[in-house]
Amino acid sequence: MGCGTSKVLPEPPKDDPLDLVKKVDPYTDYKTDIYKHFIKGDGDAIKSAIPSPPCHTNPYVEQQEPRKNRVAKYRAKFDPRVTAKYDIKALIGRGSFSRVVRVEHKATKQPYAIKLIETKYREGREVCESELCVLRRVRHTNIIQLIEVFETQERVYMVMELATGGELFDRIIAKGSFTERDATRVLQMVLDGVKYLHTLGITHRDLKPENLLYYHPGMDSKIMITDFGLASARKKGDDCLMKTTCGTPEYIAPEILIRKPYTNSVDMWALGVISYILLSGTMPFEDDNRTRLYRQILKGKYSYSGEVSKGMMMMMMCMMRT
Ligand code: ADP
Ligand code: MG
Repeated sequence: MGCGTSKVLPEPPKDDPLDLVKKVDPYTDYKTDIYKHFIKGDGDAIKSAIPSPPCHTNPYVEQQEPRKNRVAKYRAKFDPRVTAKYDIKALIGRGSFSRVVRVEHKATKQPYAIKLIETKYREGREVCESELCVLRRVRHTNIIQLIEVFETQERVYMVMELATGGELFDRIIAKGSFTERDATRVLQMVLDGVKYLHTLGITHRDLKPENLLYYHPGMDSKIMITDFGLASARKKGDDCLMKTTCGTPEYIAPEILIRKPYTNSVDMWALGVISYILLSGTMPFEDDNRTRLYRQILKGKYSYSGEVSKGMMMMMMCMMRT
């Protein structure tokens, strides 16, 4: 379900869009990973879209140095202004350019999350700009709230509300699938957040279960949208059309694949894919081969065999335009 990493896809030659959509390479730089001394904390949160390297080389398996040395090393990755105010507790998520850690505010003892983004490289800078531009503008109960930002030459530290209930991804894995009632509840919350974003002219462009977090571990927790690294915010005077080919392969809308200018309805497509996953516990479009996967998406070729009400089926079909 989470095999795809979010990415901006490279520009293709013009003739056959299908064979030309380049593979989105998985993250493989773990051997030289400067974060290899992070302490693994908070269970299994370190996974999401990144395939794990073989176990004996996995830097997150607690094996090498004594814990004390590792603590010292990973603290050193943080700007002193950050560590003066926050205690770094554990690594809870990682992407190609970012790490997310759980922290505690020293004075208030309040827990928060800090997303640390490397801005040394262009891609990291772009992701960071998109994310900050959006997070600085939004305030909604179903969207992670930005608290404050620390910037250095090579890194940006975003202090955010902490969601302690884990990713929707993990709950789908744990439950297999959701009842229609539970799925509707989840979708309602995500739709509320997405509607708010769209009203502000913001398109998320990377909606998927890994980027939807439960606020707390309880069954009745609200869901919060996170990860605005690929988001696009419409500027004054712009039309609503976007051109950048980006997203996570399994959730990409067909119009992005054929490189047509597209609108915020690509978020609705992703919500259709998420609805299907919630109800069936499987992916509507899945293939290890990217070309075949994109071909399935372009054809809108999926089948659903479980039981579902007419209303839900209509909603899913509308979102996936089939
Ligand atoms: P990336 O762009 O690298 O995917 P995300 O913002 O999606 O970065 O963060 C990676 C993972 O870190 C998320 O999937 C989630 O598990 C965890 N995470 C991110 N933000 C928070 C938060 N505010 N509270 C709790 N966990 C978070
Ligand atoms: Mg993410």
